[in-house]
Amino acid sequence: MNTNIKVYSNLNFVNNNDGQVKQITIYVKNGIIDEISYTPPENGVEFIDCNNAFLIPGFVDGHGHMTHLGKNQSEVDLSSCKSEEDAIDKIDEFYKQNKSLKCILGGGWNQENWETKSIPNNKKLSLKFPDIPVIMTRVDAHAVWVNKKGIELAEIDTNTIPPDGGEILIEDNQVTGILVDKAQSLIKNVIPNETIEDVKTWILEAQKICLSQGITEIHDAGINDIQYKAYLSLVKEDKLKIRVYAMANQELFEKGVDITNKNLFELRSVKLVSDGALGSRGAALIENYSDYDTNGIMILDRNKLKNLLKKAFNQNFQVCVHAIGDKANRELINAVEDVKESKSLPYDHRTRIEHAQIIKKTDLKRIFNNNIIASIQPVHCISDMYMAEDRLGSRTDDAYLWSTLLQNKIKIMGGSDFPVEDCSPLIGIHAAVNRQKTNYIPVDGWNPKEKLNIKEAVNMFTKDTAFGSFKENIKGEVLEGYMADFTLIDQNIFNLDQSKILDIKIMGTVVDGDLVYSAF
Ligand SMILES: [Zn+2]
Repeated sequence: MNTNIKVYSNLNFVNNNDGQVKQITIYVKNGIIDEISYTPPENGVEFIDCNNAFLIPGFVDGHGHMTHLGKNQSEVDLSSCKSEEDAIDKIDEFYKQNKSLKCILGGGWNQENWETKSIPNNKKLSLKFPDIPVIMTRVDAHAVWVNKKGIELAEIDTNTIPPDGGEILIEDNQVTGILVDKAQSLIKNVIPNETIEDVKTWILEAQKICLSQGITEIHDAGINDIQYKAYLSLVKEDKLKIRVYAMANQELFEKGVDITNKNLFELRSVKLVSDGALGSRGAALIENYSDYDTNGIMILDRNKLKNLLKKAFNQNFQVCVHAIGDKANRELINAVEDVKESKSLPYDHRTRIEHAQIIKKTDLKRIFNNNIIASIQPVHCISDMYMAEDRLGSRTDDAYLWSTLLQNKIKIMGGSDFPVEDCSPLIGIHAAVNRQKTNYIPVDGWNPKEKLNIKEAVNMFTKDTAFGSFKENIKGEVLEGYMADFTLIDQNIFNLDQSKILDIKIMGTVVDGDLVYSAF
């Protein structure tokens, strides 16, 4: 193998201990930091001039969905819509540009942003589109809105029994077109099959977006068989330029997939989904919702979780479990303790709770005692704060606990859950530090005692994600011998006024020693 040497110079680096800024030059050999030098390169040495950008360890998004982000670029985006009518107009506009489609797909709608705030039915949607199936996914991917044509093609009627963990909404003895959680699978056959080539195109599209946001690594939260094959093919063609730590979804895991580590792609964990989301009232709560007579949907209960955890640990897989409601979080802790009692819990299992949004205070000690990691998306808090007040009432005291988690010595890590949210780690850091929307509302931040400081927030998106993926000894910091994954920014984030985080510009992204995005 040829030795690949890269030299990055004119870099500002903030010392971790004393906060002093020093000019450095970094020598990278085969993707690893070989030397950090405080003198400029000697005459004649070829180097990349970084224009005095500030160097920080590469941002990592600990929870995102690459295929969906890429695919969204070729579907209708309803995230900015302010009403049902607005959404239907947007779909119509899109369809006029894409007349060859056999099925209109899209998503991002959120009735919380609509004047009515009520979940739509498909009456108006079906009038506008009588002959082509229209399938629109809710922003949190926990419900779809389908027109009559789509419902007919899927052969769903009021007698259809929804699968476990799903719901078909019915009004006046008619299917409304809203399918919740597992019931979304009923519409699958109407959607044209995705090919590996489609998925590869989408991943590359998402890669471009993520690299431009300074992201060097993605934890892809639940990939299926096609996505797995697409990644392997991209690695083979040398087109994967962002590091990927993938979680197999339950189906791929149960079908059987080997632990994989090929260049920038690694798979050694499984993603399970134990409840739904708060917006669609699918998150499993111990007591009923404050604004509806339900306590949500438990998709995987304690027993099922226990069996899956055991199976995964036997195969040396890490387990990352989507758990939002306080009940889902508690059931997962119970399941981990059950496995512990049966003596099949490996010491260094690093089981992750993905989201960990609502947790009873009495469960915090147990999370710490069982070495469970809370994988958090701070941006969910600033998007959902007012909706959470409606859903939870006084239980907002148990919601989005970040400072409390750290005080309880629980390991945390950060992500965005893109494309549900914007993938920008700077927005995530802003959310973690200010608990304000991007327009700085509310003034003092929502439940401000849970704010983190800038260092803690940056750690969430760098060092802590390295721990969450068993890489703390090889990345997450700028040290000799560590992986050369960096993000270059235009300001010193560590001594910045915290209201200015969103003004920072990404100047460059280096993955495996290569400059894969640059704004200079
Ligand atoms: Zn997710």
